[in-house]
Amino acid sequence: CGIVGYVGSSPAGTFLIDGLRRLEYRGYDSSGIAVISDNGVAVNRAVGRIDNLVDSLGSEPPQGGTGIGHTRWATHGPPTEANAHPHRGGNGEVTLVHNGVIENFQPLRDELIGKGYTFQSSTDSEVIAHLIAEALGQLEEDEAEPDNRYVAAVQQAISRLRGTYGLAVLFDDCPDMLIAARFGSPLVVGVGRGEHFVASDASPLAGHTDRIVYLADHQLAVLRAGSLTVLHRDSGKIRPDIQLLETE
Ligand code: GLU
Repeated sequence: CGIVGYVGSSPAGTFLIDGLRRLEYRGYDSSGIAVISDNGVAVNRAVGRIDNLVDSLGSEPPQGGTGIGHTRWATHGPPTEANAHPHRGGNGEVTLVHNGVIENFQPLRDELIGKGYTFQSSTDSEVIAHLIAEALGQLEEDEAEPDNRYVAAVQQAISRLRGTYGLAVLFDDCPDMLIAARFGSPLVVGVGRGEHFVASDASPLAGHTDRIVYLADHQLAVLRAGSLTVLHRDSGKIRPDIQLLETE
């Protein structure tokens, strides 16, 4: 239903929670965030209101400058904590949030279970996390352009999907990068000073930046604190079309 993401030098958790509150108007049944630092990924999820998620964080919210968040409106699997996003793939090396519906999730799930992947949820979304982990495991590291391997893993995974997706993906061994991808489910990127944002609509970005890039179908974005790369599935790197967000 709703997606937020942050890469920069501020605590990601603060933006994520505030951003999820601004997306509450769309409706949701559960929510969650993942924050990544050099110490690994911390995932918190809760059924019901964002306040329940905030309660689950306790007095020490997860530290880290990169993170993703989600408000879920269940389509596959009941609204439980296990089905709330973010979902992890492989042995936890991939963490993602997903908006939309994956129509061919059942054959993909069967295939992945056959390969030894263990599912923690009954969502359609979790297959995407395992598909990315699977692709990542098959790809060679590219020392000249390390981001290429992560981008290729996401591209290979989404090429197997039928349905709609807005995605924000974190990689355990690359804590200062976030990849976003969309087909049929909106995503906007916010361009800040030394920080980048992603969200399923512009409302979480207001007050943080007025420079935004609307991703189109089949586009991916690689966000780092100091750089933004936008790619199209077929044409490779493209120049991001930065627009001014109108604020009233
Ligand atoms: N189909 C996914 C699920 O049921 C995502 C739903 C959504 O867009 O919130 O978890």
